[in-house]
Amino acid sequence: MRSDGLDPAQIDGLEDLDAASYRRALHEVADLIADYAESLPDRPVLPPVEPGSIAPLFPARPPEDPEPLDTILGDYRRLVEPHATAWNHPGFMAYFPTSSSAAGVIGELLMASLAQNTFLWRTSPIGTELETVVVSWFRQGLGLPEGFDGLVTDTASIGSLMALAAAREAAGLDAAQRGLPARSDVGEPRVYASAEAHSSIDKACMILGLGRDSLVHVPTDDELRLRPDALDAAIAEDLAAGRRPVAIVATLGTTASTSVDPIADIAAIAERHGLWLHVDAAYAGVVALLPERRETFRGWERADSIIVNPHKWLFTPFDASLFLTRRMPQVRAAFSVVPEYLRTLDRATPTRDMGEYTPQLGRRFRALKLWVLLRWFGLAGLRRRIEHHIWQAHELAGWVDTDPDFERLAPVPFSVVCLRWRPAELVVDTGDADVEAFLDRQNQALMEAVNRTGEVLLSHARLHGRFTIRVAFGNLRTTDRELAQVWALLREHAARLQRTPAAAAHAPVAARAGTGGR
Ligand code: PLP
Repeated sequence: MRSDGLDPAQIDGLEDLDAASYRRALHEVADLIADYAESLPDRPVLPPVEPGSIAPLFPARPPEDPEPLDTILGDYRRLVEPHATAWNHPGFMAYFPTSSSAAGVIGELLMASLAQNTFLWRTSPIGTELETVVVSWFRQGLGLPEGFDGLVTDTASIGSLMALAAAREAAGLDAAQRGLPARSDVGEPRVYASAEAHSSIDKACMILGLGRDSLVHVPTDDELRLRPDALDAAIAEDLAAGRRPVAIVATLGTTASTSVDPIADIAAIAERHGLWLHVDAAYAGVVALLPERRETFRGWERADSIIVNPHKWLFTPFDASLFLTRRMPQVRAAFSVVPEYLRTLDRATPTRDMGEYTPQLGRRFRALKLWVLLRWFGLAGLRRRIEHHIWQAHELAGWVDTDPDFERLAPVPFSVVCLRWRPAELVVDTGDADVEAFLDRQNQALMEAVNRTGEVLLSHARLHGRFTIRVAFGNLRTTDRELAQVWALLREHAARLQRTPAAAAHAPVAARAGTGGR
């Protein structure tokens, strides 16, 4: 090492760090990573910064000359870490928590160091075959039958895109070859999903050239589950009008409320009409790792494709999404393009080349981190943690239910509690728009005040038209201390809110939507 901290390879070298310097640098980074993990509870979950305030901290021009690693890592500590939303913080309870376990981070580091690109078998024999092994391990863990094969992709969004592309091929549209424009031989394609389905289904329709108009948002029942009778009616109406039903998407664990579509009934409808059934279990699918909780999923084994995201509730650093299907040939038909430069000439044995099954060619070796993760936790360790998160959610739900000033806005099938503050004396006439608007404002103010404490981070949704605070468990580091804390914070800040629209109207401006924050 030179006195200016630069490595000789940076000055006049044509290659990378030598082995000794590489080792030293990695040890330094290992300390950095462990220090960050240790410091998390002392950091605010959401960095207290305004949009646009971070970029100016960095030079506008790129560095012409090399800089010492120590300087770069110093800036990382100073400029990067404090401005990161702390997804690994024990108080992170927003969206669906993605906590990066130590095993997952170790898997990521190993992935990067092994530098695999898994598009052909020969570009990564281990990448291709370990992916098959890991997919099979998950299939068994989730209790799905042997007919399910699949692969690991980056996100659920891509998994759903793949499913709908394969569904088009399975429906005989031959869109991969002929496209869809100006095709008089195919009626307008239709995809069905509940009004609560994730926006990635809309996006998949947009990207596939079906357009958002092709997506029928089927109404839901009181508990925000797709209504099979409405689905049946929508399909019948489309068939009568000469349209072309292609696929149904059922969601097991919707994003806003975690509602569960009645999968067995939906599977029966898909089978009756010969439609591809895609199951979006991106968040909740991991619950099927617990045999005693599989009842909720009964019927999903009849799906053509299923997605489950380890990067949501399985402690896997973003990204890794499991795409399971009984119909790999249709997936291949949707995506296979093999120019000469991708042909494998030196093998007599047929190989599975994963790049033929995905929209992108280049693929990370995500199976490696899942392999490390599955082995480190074991299915038993994963089950124990998932069960605990479900317990945490039910514990909070119980407290909400017995507090006269709060109410729950949805059942808790998994690990998310949907709630709002509603003062006891405020008898809500559901037709009273003023009261509902008041509650919307106060609950938004409540969530913002709680978030400003930096101790926890919550997110929101709108259920039945009402502003809803979501408290999502599933973070590896959330202990029962944070469980008690989030409830204490909600109650403490709710106590500072004006309790009626009339009181709010007479309160000074600053106090109208409550106070709070540090
Ligand atoms: N499906 C559901 C039910 C989701 O909740 C989400 C994201 O939260 C997605 C799909 C999209 O996930 P991804 O970010 O992996 O594309």
